[in-house]
Amino acid sequence: MAPALPPLPTIEWDKLGLAVTDSVNGHVECTYSTTTSTWSPPTFVTDPYLRIHGLSPALNYGMQAFEGLKALRLASSSASSGGGGDTISIFRPHLHCTRLAHSATVASMPPVPEPLFLEALSLAVRGNAEYVGPSTSDAILYIRPLLFGSGPQLALEPPSQFTFAVYVQPATTYHGLQPLPCVVVEDFDRAATRGTGSAKIGGNYAPVMRWSRRAKAQGYYMTLHLDSATQSEIDEFSTSGFIGVKKIEADTPANGQAAMATPTAVNGEAKENPKLNATLLIPSSPNILHSVTSDSVVHLAQHKLHLPIARRPVPFSELASLSEVLAVGTAASVLPIASVSRLSTDEKYVFVGADGKAGEVGVELAALLKAYMRGEVEDEFGWRYEVGFLDPEEDSATQRAKGNGLQLVTAGGEGTLSTSELKLVTSPL
Ligand SMILES: *Cc1c(COP(=O)(O)O)cnc(C)c1O
Repeated sequence: MAPALPPLPTIEWDKLGLAVTDSVNGHVECTYSTTTSTWSPPTFVTDPYLRIHGLSPALNYGMQAFEGLKALRLASSSASSGGGGDTISIFRPHLHCTRLAHSATVASMPPVPEPLFLEALSLAVRGNAEYVGPSTSDAILYIRPLLFGSGPQLALEPPSQFTFAVYVQPATTYHGLQPLPCVVVEDFDRAATRGTGSAKIGGNYAPVMRWSRRAKAQGYYMTLHLDSATQSEIDEFSTSGFIGVKKIEADTPANGQAAMATPTAVNGEAKENPKLNATLLIPSSPNILHSVTSDSVVHLAQHKLHLPIARRPVPFSELASLSEVLAVGTAASVLPIASVSRLSTDEKYVFVGADGKAGEVGVELAALLKAYMRGEVEDEFGWRYEVGFLDPEEDSATQRAKGNGLQLVTAGGEGTLSTSELKLVTSPL
């Protein structure tokens, strides 16, 4: 196996944001034929545009699903190269594949088989390796797999063809840990009871945009959704999962639930750091997306910090007893929430001190997660999927990328790349 190409020297890796630049070498495409029930092998296409029938159910009926995950250059391979190490890994692709299969089923589409999913993602990353930033930066390669009904079909029946495409974009993770104010969306429900909220499908996102834009105009950079049936329980943020941090009071538990959630097998480490003596609350609503980041954070909290986890309905009123609230997702990582406001009732819950700084549980979990993603610690949970590189002469993706001749766009150049971190937090998934 050959080493991965180093990061391009012409990009300001810490200032990328998540603006689409079209500077990368290309994307990967493959198609599924409904008549033969087979997938074509993935190919690398040096063009960001797709050919799609105007009467496809993707365009007409919202028959599509997507994923969002990331590839990173590992620190362990960068020790002597200033962050330009030659090993690139994709973070937890198997779980993202499982979620895409769920979303595909919800939108009446065939799932993408896992071997094909992994091969297509590897090909997309391999063909764009120089866009994976240095391990010493906060840069990632954001991967956007996309599945949609691409053949013509006006009836409410499956089309003759589905397309699976994998796009990538160099981006910067928001690691600012600057807590953000949040508002509850009260005039619109993102997910109906027994609806499609658990799927990453386009129809769940476009209708939210006008509400998140309105919130932003009012100074709220995050939007929170409550359950549609009763408006009394917390579902999740518009593009990230919800984690509540509830301090465990040593002598007088706040209520029965906190007492029940007290750890049974704390091995002493949590006690050495009594400040982290807290329970993580994860909403168990059936109408939320299964966040891979939340899964990772919960795993780390349990196995590394020995914190108890409570997965159950979280009443909105319980915000009053939380010490920290975190928004978790691939692009935002672990983002502390400064406050949650509900305008109709004049309620406002604040989760930062007078200094406006993030709480320590969130800071600790963000640092831990980053260490596992960047390869600063051993991959004991099997989360890092290493992308294999062929010698350039053998690798069609590298060959085609080289022959592509697209102009490279550098950060800060023509103002094509966003330097606004807030923009990153509120736009990506
Ligand atoms: C993508 C997304 C998340 C975060 O999922 P990750 O797997 O952690 O990236 C959470 N909620 C919603 C609504 C999302 O679209």
